[in-house]
Amino acid sequence: MEKICVAVRVRPAVSSEPFNGTFWKVEDNRISLHKVHGTPISGLSYAFDHVFDESCTNARVYELLTKDIIHAAVEGFNGTAFAYGQTSSGKTFTMNGSETDPGIIHRAVKDIFTKIQMISDREFLIRVSYMEIYNEEINDLFAVENQKLQIHESLERGIFVAGLREEIVNNAEQVFELIESGEVNRHFGETNMNVRSSRSHTIFRMVIESRGKDTNSSCDYSSTDAIRVSVLNLVDLAGSERIAKTGAGGVRLKEGKYINKSLMILGNVINKLSEGAKQRSHIPYRDSKLTRILQPALGGNAKTSIICTLAPEEVHIEETKGTLQFASRAKRITNCAQVNEILTDAALLKRQKVEIEELRKKLQGSHAEVLEQVILKLRNDLLKYELEREKLEMELQEERKSRKECDQCIREQQIKIVNHSNLVTSSEFNMNSSQEHNSVRQVLQEECNDSSGIDQGDAFRTPCFKAAPKAFVVKRSNYSMLPDYSPLPDTFSNVADEDTWLKMNKGYIADLDLLQMTPARRVQSFPSSDVTPACSNENYTQEIQHLKRQLEIATEERNELERKHAEQILLNHRLMDDISELQQEAKLMREIPKRLSESVSNCKDIYEDVLSIIQSFVSDEESSTAKLLSSTSEIGKSLLTTLETHFSMAMDDNSSFTGNNSLIQEQRKMLYEKFNSTITGLVLSQTQQSSCENKGGKTACWKEELSNELNTIKERYHDLEKELDINNQLLVVSKERYDTLEREYQLLKEYRDLLNQKISESSQKLALVTDQKENALNDLDTEVQRRKNLEEEIKQFSVAFASRHKSLMSFHRDVKSQCEKLRAQYLVSLPNALGC
Ligand code: ADP
Ligand code: MG
Repeated sequence: MEKICVAVRVRPAVSSEPFNGTFWKVEDNRISLHKVHGTPISGLSYAFDHVFDESCTNARVYELLTKDIIHAAVEGFNGTAFAYGQTSSGKTFTMNGSETDPGIIHRAVKDIFTKIQMISDREFLIRVSYMEIYNEEINDLFAVENQKLQIHESLERGIFVAGLREEIVNNAEQVFELIESGEVNRHFGETNMNVRSSRSHTIFRMVIESRGKDTNSSCDYSSTDAIRVSVLNLVDLAGSERIAKTGAGGVRLKEGKYINKSLMILGNVINKLSEGAKQRSHIPYRDSKLTRILQPALGGNAKTSIICTLAPEEVHIEETKGTLQFASRAKRITNCAQVNEILTDAALLKRQKVEIEELRKKLQGSHAEVLEQVILKLRNDLLKYELEREKLEMELQEERKSRKECDQCIREQQIKIVNHSNLVTSSEFNMNSSQEHNSVRQVLQEECNDSSGIDQGDAFRTPCFKAAPKAFVVKRSNYSMLPDYSPLPDTFSNVADEDTWLKMNKGYIADLDLLQMTPARRVQSFPSSDVTPACSNENYTQEIQHLKRQLEIATEERNELERKHAEQILLNHRLMDDISELQQEAKLMREIPKRLSESVSNCKDIYEDVLSIIQSFVSDEESSTAKLLSSTSEIGKSLLTTLETHFSMAMDDNSSFTGNNSLIQEQRKMLYEKFNSTITGLVLSQTQQSSCENKGGKTACWKEELSNELNTIKERYHDLEKELDINNQLLVVSKERYDTLEREYQLLKEYRDLLNQKISESSQKLALVTDQKENALNDLDTEVQRRKNLEEEIKQFSVAFASRHKSLMSFHRDVKSQCEKLRAQYLVSLPNALGC
């Protein structure tokens, strides 16, 4: 266990303005804030492994801070050196340096090659890569086309950036040329604080492999030889910044937010690591690409040094304090570095061994420089092929993944189609049974339940390969325990403000659980390397055929579904016709009371006419016949008026109508009594008249006539009463029929609405299914095209590889024949020289 080595470097002040209030004073390995007259301010004094003042050169920084780590890297230890500090404090100056005072990277590269030349008992293979993390995306600085690279982790290679260009190098000059070419691709931007401000974190990486040389059998290496592989990261971080000071807006602001965010996560990681092993909780390495890449350097298997750069101006005092606090916390971190010795094929040196040794043997005797050049070229070619293969394998894996998703999609659609067909069949069944009125509602309800059941179930659910909406907001704590996920912070709106900046620099641990994260991304593992291209081609063809078959089935099922849908629409039309017929019938039924009322009013008119004609035959208005007629007319009119009233009541208010039968009975009784009293009155007056006039014979005759007339009227009255009863019964029956029809009408209306709703739902679903199908078809087309391209590429690659191999072989032959020629010449010229 060893502590991280932390140093602080103060850059020269930009302005020559004198200090007004405070200044930073450097004494030995301590830096403290002093008042203008020299009194130190308590609580603001910090001690580190080294503190470099303004006059310190990069040479000295390298010598004291980084040299040991570089030497250890040559011996097989992982090493990391990075510069942290606010914008314009001198990070890039420290890492890259200037013409006159080269920086740490330059010195490290030179030193490594000098060092390995001094180690005669080991053979080295060094490869370099250069990447930047810009707006949370990893870009290759050696190859502009390699953008948005992904971080992977494997047992053998540890954490690595897939697809990153690596170049095998033989000497420092080659490295400098490469770095120069990479610098062109770096993201710089002008801010108020730095004309050429680094807008990205850059990581220059050297992988140093070495193995011991067996001095006894010069070039014969034991196959079980352990190989040391160490990774050296030299990191120039982008500057933490306050938006207000940099005057950033637009692109600069966005960059600033990403920079601050990743530095905040770096701060969090450092904070957690500085808590000590016992209190240490989960370390959020996976929250940013920077911390993920630096994971071995922070609390892992690496020797690490951090140089914190400071701007001495008073205006930057807050930032400087923040940087010093960050440095103090970093000082508490302990790493556990050990030599990485590996026996597996993970070491490039091991994988290239056979080819290189063969070549070495073949070229024995050639000029050493030529030999080295050829070997280097061959090594780089092999590495390129390997990287190319790795890239292809990744693509293949992606292809497999997308094919799986496509399969899944087709399966989902099949399930949907099947479910939809079931839905259609069950709705047909329900319609057949709709003739039974009583069961209609029940069936409808059942169907409703069914369809809601389907909604909740499988049928039209979003395919499961699409993430559920809630899955997009995941708390880190939920998945941080899963090793295969690499969640990345995505919300930056609350990061680049002044408050957060200050908190960040004061050792604040951001509550990442409160931040929204991008959906969990599954880390891809390498596909198994035993899949040969021929085998995979065959698999492709099979898979494509399989997909085509599935597509045909799905198309058939879709057609079937469409046919059923059309049938359902036809059925619905028929049902609509039935409903309109029933509506007509109901309308007619509703008109019955109206017609009855009209006929009663006609009857009344006729009755009045008839009675008035009869009354006109009676000359004496005071006679009993006239009185009887007028009373009969009154009763009749009253009866008919009552009937009329009842009919109109039946038309207006169906519900209150039935209860009025008793009212009719009462009226009937009343009229009956009135009629009887009229008759009795008439009989009495007649009797009195007859007794007065003593005309007995005549009276008896009138009496008889009257009683006959009375009987006739009574009979007519009874007939009318009967008619009224029949009419009432008819009314009740028609009312009942009307109610039933009304209910049926309502039920049918509901059923129709429900059917309409269902039809529109199934139309929507059908449209959705069709859309998805079309998307799947498009995807499939793209997929097939991509596969074709990939196959083409693989073919081209195989051809290129073969031709390369061929040219290499011919080159070998040439070299060999050249050697033989040279040897022959040498043999010929030797005797000559010796004067033979
Ligand atoms: P950063 O990378 O931290 O944003 P730079 O390294 O770009 O800052 O430095 C900003 C300016 O300050 C540059 O012009 C650089 O040359 C100058 N500078 C920084 N540190 C020193 C130093 N120690 N000596 C001389 N000049 C320096
Ligand atoms: Mg910089």
